[in-house]
Amino acid sequence: MPARGCLIVISGPSGAGKTSICKALLEGLLDTVWSVSVTTRPPRPGEVNGDSYQFVSRKEFEAKEAAGELLESAEYVGQRYGTPRQPVEKALAAGRNVVMEIDVQGGMQVAEKMPKSVRIFVMPPNMESLRARLEGRRTEAAGQLAKRLAEADGEIAIARDSGCYTHFVVNDVLETTVEQVKRIIEQERRQA
Ligand code: ADP
Ligand code: 5GP
Repeated sequence: MPARGCLIVISGPSGAGKTSICKALLEGLLDTVWSVSVTTRPPRPGEVNGDSYQFVSRKEFEAKEAAGELLESAEYVGQRYGTPRQPVEKALAAGRNVVMEIDVQGGMQVAEKMPKSVRIFVMPPNMESLRARLEGRRTEAAGQLAKRLAEADGEIAIARDSGCYTHFVVNDVLETTVEQVKRIIEQERRQA
């Protein structure tokens, strides 16, 4: 039987760079798969169903939740997000590492259910750059962008106070952050 894979949780405020880091990680780590979340949020231009997310109605989401199909779930700025349990368990059992990008509410649930996971919280260098990155991404309308920024302080406070993150990284220069995250994962895997 292969050694169980490592579960890697990446959280952080919207615009901190989580998706950019995860994309680079998936290119650079062998035997590592991405956990495709389900969400009720509408797809952004270019987002393909089943690729970054599985896009579902609120009714479909609630049915999955009620059936116990989700490992964790949360509501974030008015939309539901959750991680399908089965693909994660299957990949880990087959010895593959799984990367999931989830919010702090989900991070706390995973910390409790899967305490051996590596949980990394990505911080922006400062709030001005967080705003600039979100604005530069051009994926949210002004109202939605403001709601996301308004969440950031609370998310950082929860991440700090809950003690459920094993590592905090500041995403200043992307390439440096990716290297730092890779080192954390390799170190944790050696210790597992
Ligand atoms: P998140 O997934 O945390 O919401 P993204 O990965 O979508 O954040 O990044 C938000 C925006 O900031 C994107 O346009 C991305 O290209 C950019 N970005 C990510 N990391 C950096 C960085 N270190 N420096 C400058 N811009 C960055
Ligand atoms: P976005 O809409 O920008 O893709 O994601 C918004 C927030 O939802 C981010 O903090 C992201 O990490 C989080 N998120 C994405 N998928 C999941 C999930 O499956 N579970 C939870 N709890 N949060 C998620």
